[in-house]
Amino acid sequence: MPTDLHAAPIASAESAGPDAAGIVYVDGRFCPPSEASVSVFDHGLLYGDGVFEGIRIYGGRIFKLERHVDRMFRSAARIGLDPGVTPSQMRRILLETSARSGLREGYLRPLFTRGPGDLGLDPRKSKHPSVIVICSTINPYGGAADRGLRLIVASLRRTPPEVLHPNIKSLNYLNNVLAKAEANARGADDALLLDLRGNVAEATGENVFVVRDGRLYSPPTTTNLEGITRETIRELAAGTLPFEERSFDVPFLTSGAEAFLTGTGAEVLPVVEVDGAKVGDGVPGPITRRLRAAYFELVRSTGTPVPYPRTAHPRRG
Ligand code: PMP
Repeated sequence: MPTDLHAAPIASAESAGPDAAGIVYVDGRFCPPSEASVSVFDHGLLYGDGVFEGIRIYGGRIFKLERHVDRMFRSAARIGLDPGVTPSQMRRILLETSARSGLREGYLRPLFTRGPGDLGLDPRKSKHPSVIVICSTINPYGGAADRGLRLIVASLRRTPPEVLHPNIKSLNYLNNVLAKAEANARGADDALLLDLRGNVAEATGENVFVVRDGRLYSPPTTTNLEGITRETIRELAAGTLPFEERSFDVPFLTSGAEAFLTGTGAEVLPVVEVDGAKVGDGVPGPITRRLRAAYFELVRSTGTPVPYPRTAHPRRG
Protein backbone atom coordinates (compact mmCIF):
# COMPACT_ATOMS: atom_id res chain seq x y z
CA MET A 1 0.00 0.00 0.00
CA PRO A 2 1.45 3.38 -0.85
CA THR A 3 1.66 5.81 2.03
CA ASP A 4 -0.41 8.59 0.62
CA LEU A 5 -2.83 11.17 1.90
CA HIS A 6 -5.73 8.70 1.97
CA ALA A 7 -3.78 6.22 4.10
CA ALA A 8 -3.83 8.71 6.96
CA PRO A 9 -7.41 9.95 7.03
CA ILE A 10 -7.36 11.36 10.55
CA ALA A 11 -4.22 13.44 10.07
CA SER A 12 -5.37 14.66 6.67
CA ALA A 13 -8.82 15.53 8.01
CA GLU A 14 -7.24 17.58 10.76
CA SER A 15 -5.11 19.50 8.32
CA ALA A 16 -7.74 19.69 5.58
CA GLY A 17 -8.87 22.93 4.04
CA PRO A 18 -7.26 26.27 3.45
CA ASP A 19 -5.90 28.36 6.28
CA ALA A 20 -7.22 31.41 4.52
CA ALA A 21 -9.10 34.08 6.38
CA GLY A 22 -12.84 33.90 6.03
CA ILE A 23 -15.88 31.88 6.86
CA VAL A 24 -18.11 29.37 5.12
CA TYR A 25 -21.89 28.97 5.20
CA VAL A 26 -23.20 25.48 4.46
CA ASP A 27 -26.94 24.84 4.66
CA GLY A 28 -27.64 27.05 7.63
CA ARG A 29 -24.34 26.58 9.48
CA PHE A 30 -21.35 28.91 9.62
CA CYS A 31 -17.89 27.44 10.14
CA PRO A 32 -14.20 28.21 9.60
CA PRO A 33 -12.92 27.33 6.09
CA SER A 34 -10.87 24.40 7.43
CA GLU A 35 -14.00 22.78 8.87
CA ALA A 36 -16.37 23.32 5.94
CA SER A 37 -17.35 20.18 4.06
CA VAL A 38 -19.97 18.65 1.81
CA SER A 39 -21.05 15.06 1.23
CA VAL A 40 -19.00 13.00 -1.23
CA PHE A 41 -22.43 12.03 -2.65
CA ASP A 42 -23.25 15.64 -3.52
CA HIS A 43 -24.12 15.67 -7.20
CA GLY A 44 -22.28 18.98 -7.46
CA LEU A 45 -19.08 17.02 -6.79
CA LEU A 46 -20.06 13.81 -8.61
CA TYR A 47 -21.48 15.37 -11.79
CA GLY A 48 -20.80 19.11 -11.66
CA ASP A 49 -24.54 19.48 -11.12
CA GLY A 50 -24.84 22.95 -9.67
CA VAL A 51 -24.22 26.64 -10.28
CA PHE A 52 -22.11 29.34 -8.69
CA GLU A 53 -21.19 33.02 -8.61
CA GLY A 54 -18.16 35.14 -7.82
CA ILE A 55 -18.76 38.44 -6.02
CA ARG A 56 -16.41 40.99 -4.49
CA ILE A 57 -16.54 42.97 -1.27
CA TYR A 58 -14.85 46.36 -1.56
CA GLY A 59 -14.41 48.59 1.48
CA GLY A 60 -17.15 46.77 3.41
CA ARG A 61 -19.70 46.88 0.58
CA ILE A 62 -20.80 44.10 -1.75
CA PHE A 63 -20.47 45.19 -5.37
CA LYS A 64 -23.48 44.45 -7.62
CA LEU A 65 -25.03 42.09 -5.08
CA GLU A 66 -28.43 42.09 -6.73
CA ARG A 67 -27.07 41.49 -10.25
CA HIS A 68 -25.04 38.50 -9.07
CA VAL A 69 -27.93 36.96 -7.13
CA ASP A 70 -30.23 37.47 -10.13
CA ARG A 71 -27.73 35.78 -12.45
CA MET A 72 -27.28 32.91 -10.01
CA PHE A 73 -31.02 32.26 -9.89
CA ARG A 74 -31.20 32.47 -13.69
CA SER A 75 -28.39 29.88 -13.94
CA ALA A 76 -30.19 27.66 -11.42
CA ALA A 77 -33.51 27.96 -13.28
CA ARG A 78 -31.79 26.95 -16.53
CA ILE A 79 -30.68 23.66 -15.00
CA GLY A 80 -34.02 23.13 -13.22
CA LEU A 81 -32.48 23.57 -9.77
CA ASP A 82 -34.71 25.08 -7.09
CA PRO A 83 -32.25 25.99 -4.33
CA GLY A 84 -34.97 26.18 -1.67
CA VAL A 85 -34.14 29.82 -0.84
CA THR A 86 -35.51 32.99 -2.40
CA PRO A 87 -33.29 35.67 -3.96
CA SER A 88 -33.93 37.95 -0.98
CA GLN A 89 -32.99 35.16 1.48
CA MET A 90 -29.86 34.55 -0.58
CA ARG A 91 -28.92 38.23 -0.45
CA ARG A 92 -29.32 38.10 3.35
CA ILE A 93 -27.16 34.96 3.58
CA LEU A 94 -24.44 36.66 1.52
CA LEU A 95 -24.59 39.78 3.69
CA GLU A 96 -24.51 37.76 6.90
CA THR A 97 -21.61 35.57 5.74
CA SER A 98 -19.68 38.71 4.80
CA ALA A 99 -20.49 40.30 8.16
CA ARG A 100 -19.34 37.24 10.11
CA SER A 101 -16.11 37.08 8.10
CA GLY A 102 -15.17 40.56 9.24
CA LEU A 103 -13.48 41.00 5.84
CA ARG A 104 -13.83 44.47 4.34
CA GLU A 105 -11.93 43.43 1.21
CA GLY A 106 -13.10 39.99 0.22
CA TYR A 107 -14.55 37.58 -2.27
CA LEU A 108 -17.81 35.64 -2.05
CA ARG A 109 -18.31 32.31 -3.76
CA PRO A 110 -21.95 31.20 -3.42
CA LEU A 111 -22.88 27.78 -4.78
CA PHE A 112 -26.12 25.90 -5.25
CA THR A 113 -25.49 22.20 -5.69
CA ARG A 114 -28.07 19.54 -6.51
CA GLY A 115 -27.22 18.11 -3.09
CA PRO A 116 -26.41 14.60 -1.89
CA GLY A 117 -28.08 11.69 -3.65
CA ASP A 118 -27.49 8.08 -4.62
CA LEU A 119 -24.95 7.35 -7.35
CA GLY A 120 -26.37 7.86 -10.82
CA LEU A 121 -26.72 11.19 -12.52
CA ASP A 122 -30.51 11.45 -12.39
CA PRO A 123 -31.08 14.75 -10.55
CA ARG A 124 -34.18 13.29 -8.87
CA LYS A 125 -31.81 11.23 -6.70
CA SER A 126 -30.90 14.42 -4.83
CA LYS A 127 -33.71 15.45 -2.52
CA HIS A 128 -32.16 18.51 -0.88
CA PRO A 129 -30.08 21.06 -2.76
CA SER A 130 -27.18 22.59 -0.87
CA VAL A 131 -26.62 26.29 -0.42
CA ILE A 132 -22.99 27.17 0.22
CA VAL A 133 -21.23 30.51 0.55
CA ILE A 134 -17.46 30.79 0.87
CA CYS A 135 -16.27 34.20 2.01
CA SER A 136 -12.54 34.57 1.57
CA THR A 137 -10.03 36.57 -0.45
CA ILE A 138 -8.84 36.38 -4.04
CA ASN A 139 -5.91 37.68 -6.06
CA PRO A 140 -6.00 35.83 -9.38
CA TYR A 141 -3.30 37.69 -11.34
CA GLY A 142 -1.03 39.19 -8.70
CA GLY A 143 0.94 42.09 -10.13
CA ALA A 144 0.20 41.25 -13.78
CA ALA A 145 -2.19 44.18 -14.04
CA ASP A 146 0.63 46.71 -14.30
CA ARG A 147 2.67 44.98 -16.99
CA GLY A 148 -0.32 43.54 -18.84
CA LEU A 149 -1.20 39.91 -19.56
CA ARG A 150 0.45 37.61 -22.05
CA LEU A 151 -2.11 35.19 -23.41
CA ILE A 152 -2.10 32.10 -25.56
CA VAL A 153 -4.90 30.80 -27.73
CA ALA A 154 -6.04 27.55 -26.15
CA SER A 155 -6.07 24.47 -28.34
CA LEU A 156 -9.46 23.55 -26.85
CA ARG A 157 -12.49 25.46 -28.08
CA ARG A 158 -15.04 27.02 -25.73
CA THR A 159 -17.94 24.70 -24.97
CA PRO A 160 -20.54 25.80 -27.52
CA PRO A 161 -24.00 26.99 -26.47
CA GLU A 162 -25.54 23.97 -28.17
CA VAL A 163 -23.68 21.73 -25.70
CA LEU A 164 -23.80 23.74 -22.47
CA HIS A 165 -24.79 27.38 -22.63
CA PRO A 166 -21.96 29.61 -21.36
CA ASN A 167 -24.58 31.77 -19.66
CA ILE A 168 -25.22 28.96 -17.22
CA LYS A 169 -22.49 29.58 -14.65
CA SER A 170 -22.36 25.90 -13.82
CA LEU A 171 -19.94 23.79 -11.82
CA ASN A 172 -18.70 22.32 -15.12
CA TYR A 173 -15.52 24.39 -15.57
CA LEU A 174 -13.25 21.68 -16.93
CA ASN A 175 -13.17 23.38 -20.35
CA ASN A 176 -11.85 26.54 -18.65
CA VAL A 177 -9.55 24.67 -16.23
CA LEU A 178 -7.85 22.78 -19.07
CA ALA A 179 -7.33 26.00 -21.03
CA LYS A 180 -5.78 27.55 -17.92
CA ALA A 181 -3.51 24.51 -17.48
CA GLU A 182 -2.39 24.92 -21.08
CA ALA A 183 -1.58 28.58 -20.43
CA ASN A 184 0.43 27.55 -17.35
CA ALA A 185 2.32 24.91 -19.33
CA ARG A 186 3.17 27.47 -22.02
CA GLY A 187 4.28 30.11 -19.53
CA ALA A 188 1.39 32.49 -20.27
CA ASP A 189 -0.85 34.37 -17.85
CA ASP A 190 -4.10 33.07 -19.29
CA ALA A 191 -5.71 31.63 -22.42
CA LEU A 192 -8.21 32.85 -24.96
CA LEU A 193 -10.84 30.30 -25.89
CA LEU A 194 -12.22 30.44 -29.41
CA ASP A 195 -15.72 29.44 -30.42
CA LEU A 196 -16.26 26.66 -32.95
CA ARG A 197 -16.07 29.18 -35.81
CA GLY A 198 -12.64 30.36 -34.69
CA ASN A 199 -13.77 33.66 -33.21
CA VAL A 200 -12.72 34.83 -29.76
CA ALA A 201 -15.24 33.66 -27.16
CA GLU A 202 -13.67 34.62 -23.83
CA ALA A 203 -10.70 34.00 -21.55
CA THR A 204 -10.77 31.23 -18.93
CA GLY A 205 -12.79 33.32 -16.47
CA GLU A 206 -13.06 36.74 -18.12
CA ASN A 207 -14.75 38.54 -20.99
CA VAL A 208 -12.68 40.10 -23.76
CA PHE A 209 -12.67 43.66 -25.10
CA VAL A 210 -10.76 45.21 -28.00
CA VAL A 211 -10.20 48.94 -28.52
CA ARG A 212 -9.95 49.96 -32.19
CA ASP A 213 -10.39 53.33 -33.85
CA GLY A 214 -11.79 54.82 -30.66
CA ARG A 215 -14.46 52.11 -30.36
CA LEU A 216 -14.94 49.23 -27.92
CA TYR A 217 -15.69 45.74 -29.20
CA SER A 218 -16.70 42.61 -27.32
CA PRO A 219 -18.07 39.33 -28.70
CA PRO A 220 -21.82 38.68 -28.41
CA THR A 221 -22.68 36.76 -25.25
CA THR A 222 -23.96 33.75 -27.15
CA THR A 223 -20.49 32.19 -26.85
CA ASN A 224 -19.44 33.54 -23.46
CA LEU A 225 -20.77 34.47 -20.04
CA GLU A 226 -22.80 37.67 -19.78
CA GLY A 227 -20.25 39.22 -17.46
CA ILE A 228 -21.34 41.72 -14.87
CA THR A 229 -17.96 43.47 -15.15
CA ARG A 230 -18.41 43.58 -18.95
CA GLU A 231 -21.79 45.23 -18.45
CA THR A 232 -20.28 47.69 -15.95
CA ILE A 233 -17.49 48.63 -18.38
CA ARG A 234 -20.07 49.26 -21.10
CA GLU A 235 -21.91 51.59 -18.73
CA LEU A 236 -18.69 53.40 -17.79
CA ALA A 237 -17.69 53.83 -21.42
CA ALA A 238 -21.13 55.01 -22.55
CA GLY A 239 -21.03 58.51 -24.01
CA THR A 240 -17.29 58.52 -24.63
CA LEU A 241 -16.52 55.26 -26.42
CA PRO A 242 -19.06 53.73 -28.79
CA PHE A 243 -19.57 50.05 -28.02
CA GLU A 244 -20.14 47.36 -30.60
CA GLU A 245 -20.99 43.75 -29.92
CA ARG A 246 -19.51 41.72 -32.76
CA SER A 247 -17.66 38.50 -33.41
CA PHE A 248 -13.96 38.86 -34.13
CA ASP A 249 -10.93 36.64 -34.63
CA VAL A 250 -7.48 36.79 -33.05
CA PRO A 251 -5.89 38.97 -35.80
CA PHE A 252 -8.66 41.57 -35.22
CA LEU A 253 -7.68 41.59 -31.54
CA THR A 254 -3.90 41.76 -32.03
CA SER A 255 -4.18 44.46 -34.71
CA GLY A 256 -6.32 46.58 -32.36
CA ALA A 257 -4.89 49.49 -30.40
CA GLU A 258 -5.60 47.86 -27.04
CA ALA A 259 -7.28 44.82 -25.54
CA PHE A 260 -8.35 43.94 -22.03
CA LEU A 261 -10.15 41.31 -19.96
CA THR A 262 -12.94 41.89 -17.48
CA GLY A 263 -14.22 39.78 -14.60
CA THR A 264 -15.17 40.06 -10.96
CA GLY A 265 -11.94 38.40 -9.84
CA ALA A 266 -9.69 39.81 -12.58
CA GLU A 267 -11.37 43.26 -12.56
CA VAL A 268 -9.97 45.08 -15.65
CA LEU A 269 -6.70 43.66 -16.99
CA PRO A 270 -4.75 44.86 -20.02
CA VAL A 271 -3.72 42.26 -22.60
CA VAL A 272 -0.36 43.03 -24.20
CA GLU A 273 0.39 39.86 -26.14
CA VAL A 274 -1.40 36.88 -27.72
CA ASP A 275 0.61 33.86 -28.88
CA GLY A 276 3.72 36.06 -29.05
CA ALA A 277 2.05 38.80 -31.15
CA LYS A 278 1.98 42.24 -29.54
CA VAL A 279 -1.32 44.03 -29.03
CA GLY A 280 -0.87 47.71 -29.93
CA ASP A 281 2.42 48.93 -28.49
CA GLY A 282 2.78 45.85 -26.29
CA VAL A 283 2.12 47.84 -23.13
CA PRO A 284 -1.13 48.64 -21.26
CA GLY A 285 -2.96 51.31 -23.26
CA PRO A 286 -4.43 54.62 -22.09
CA ILE A 287 -8.09 53.68 -22.65
CA THR A 288 -7.69 50.45 -20.68
CA ARG A 289 -5.97 52.36 -17.89
CA ARG A 290 -8.73 54.98 -17.87
CA LEU A 291 -11.52 52.38 -17.75
CA ARG A 292 -9.67 50.46 -15.06
CA ALA A 293 -9.41 53.61 -12.93
CA ALA A 294 -13.10 54.41 -13.50
CA TYR A 295 -14.00 50.85 -12.52
CA PHE A 296 -12.06 51.09 -9.25
CA GLU A 297 -13.68 54.40 -8.49
CA LEU A 298 -17.13 52.86 -9.01
CA VAL A 299 -16.50 49.73 -6.90
CA ARG A 300 -15.20 51.92 -4.07
CA SER A 301 -18.18 54.27 -4.12
CA THR A 302 -21.16 51.93 -4.58
CA GLY A 303 -22.43 48.58 -3.30
CA THR A 304 -24.59 47.13 -0.55
CA PRO A 305 -23.17 47.83 2.92
CA VAL A 306 -22.30 44.72 4.95
CA PRO A 307 -23.94 44.83 8.41
CA TYR A 308 -20.79 44.10 10.44
CA PRO A 309 -21.46 43.66 14.14
CA ARG A 310 -20.46 46.74 16.09
CA THR A 311 -18.00 44.78 18.20
CA ALA A 312 -16.22 43.14 15.27
CA HIS A 313 -12.70 44.23 14.58
CA PRO A 314 -12.70 44.59 10.82
CA ARG A 315 -10.05 42.55 9.03
CA ARG A 316 -8.28 43.48 5.87
CA GLY A 317 -8.35 40.94 3.04
N1 PMP B 1 -16.42 34.35 -18.31
C1 PMP B 1 -16.31 33.31 -17.46
C2 PMP B 1 -16.15 31.94 -18.00
C3 PMP B 1 -16.36 33.53 -16.08
O1 PMP B 1 -16.27 32.50 -15.23
C4 PMP B 1 -16.50 34.85 -15.59
C5 PMP B 1 -16.56 35.10 -14.11
N2 PMP B 1 -15.36 34.77 -13.47
C6 PMP B 1 -16.57 35.90 -16.50
C7 PMP B 1 -16.55 35.61 -17.87
C8 PMP B 1 -16.70 37.32 -16.05
O2 PMP B 1 -17.96 37.53 -15.42
P1 PMP B 1 -18.16 38.60 -14.28
O3 PMP B 1 -17.69 39.89 -14.81
O4 PMP B 1 -19.63 38.60 -14.04
O5 PMP B 1 -17.39 38.16 -13.10
